[in-house]
Amino acid sequence: MTVGPMARDAATAEFFDGTAAGQFLLRHCLACDAISAPQAAQCEQCAATALEWRPAAGDATLISWTVVHRRTDNGEVLYVLCIAQLAEGPWWWSRVEGARPEELRPDAPLRIEYRRHSPHDEAVPVFVLAPAMP
Ligand SMILES: [Zn+2]
Repeated sequence: MTVGPMARDAATAEFFDGTAAGQFLLRHCLACDAISAPQAAQCEQCAATALEWRPAAGDATLISWTVVHRRTDNGEVLYVLCIAQLAEGPWWWSRVEGARPEELRPDAPLRIEYRRHSPHDEAVPVFVLAPAMP
């Protein structure tokens, strides 16, 4: 199961322009250099409103998750909802895709990927387990 359809509005347009290009955009404070979550209207450190978009590296760490069991006409499906901390600091809520629940552990390294519900919907960030380091 993949993410549901998402549509942009005035507040999310620039963020979804980024995801369409394979970038997760964060808010960079011009006053104090802090990084805030994409939805921040003010810097989360100093409350300045002079923010610019800056792409995240795409790395994250699993903070918490829950496994959702849903019955369908074709049987039961599972999906994982999670909170992850981006390498830059902000937290993000999404799904972990392509992983079995027993593979998950606190602090597991994740990568951001993008999924579209259909070709007409916005690209939405999801997490996948990062390849294990050799
Ligand atoms: Zn600031």
